[in-house]
Amino acid sequence: MKTAKTVDELRNEIKVFGENKTIGFAPTMGYLHEGHLSLIKRAKTENDIVVVSIFVNPTQFGPGEDFESYPRDFEKDAGLAEAAGADILFLPDAKEIYPVGSATIVEVEGPITKKLCGSSRPTHFKGVTTVVNILLNIVSPDKAYFGQKDAQQVAVIKKMIRGLHMQVAIVTCPIIREADGLALSSRNVGLKTEEREQAPVLSRALNIAKDLWISGENDVATLKTVIANEINTMPLADIDYVDILDYETLAGIEKIDAPALAAVAVRFGNTRLIDNIILE
Ligand code: AMP
Repeated sequence: MKTAKTVDELRNEIKVFGENKTIGFAPTMGYLHEGHLSLIKRAKTENDIVVVSIFVNPTQFGPGEDFESYPRDFEKDAGLAEAAGADILFLPDAKEIYPVGSATIVEVEGPITKKLCGSSRPTHFKGVTTVVNILLNIVSPDKAYFGQKDAQQVAVIKKMIRGLHMQVAIVTCPIIREADGLALSSRNVGLKTEEREQAPVLSRALNIAKDLWISGENDVATLKTVIANEINTMPLADIDYVDILDYETLAGIEKIDAPALAAVAVRFGNTRLIDNIILE
């Protein structure tokens, strides 16, 4: 595996592979776990070259969020990425991504970026779409791989791709979980012992709602209450949001009669966790 720190180095490394090779790209913020590695492995099966980026993007963190304390271990990440099949690891610093004087922002407007994580993190998706656009321009992949774990992020990025007529296929990969249901996340390392014990309540609550929906309940308010009540059985859980939206548009709904996304964000101490399930 080659490592590139600058845009020029990255493009040169890609050239070394020769012409007409397909490129799969998995953008990450590092501190890699099996969720990230599932994206890389999938990319490996579908492309000639796999590029993985690790960049803790400052513009998607709001004031007072965990940019400084976000976990980092670039050396360990390099070994994991290579073992999973990465051909090129792109490790830019902030000056490389945002050169002095850079003033270009890519923003998807409307409810899709205002709901769910957009309401408690109002500048988050502007940072995400800007950096993903920059990274896609640098790497020029045929396919880019994202996790269903960040369902709203995938919806927003797909909307950006359509809106800007970008030539890249977005591949969404399933959520990888711990044995007790907790979705893998780089932020899980910040959970204290008791918080970690209580954290599986996110997936448990979502699955209870899914079972109820399968048995015939399709009233969104009822299902949201069931999810919130289950999460609130855990004394350390502090709900940021519980919502059920149309899966395609993320529009609000009262009854589920098309695929819906049930999504939650919950704080445990300083750690904010998200999870979701599709009702379809
Ligand atoms: P991050 O480093 O958290 O920005 O995540 C980089 C990519 O990995 C995003 O597309 C995430 O959705 C994806 N990802 C993170 N956690 C998981 C997981 N548990 N399962 C599947 N994909 C994940």
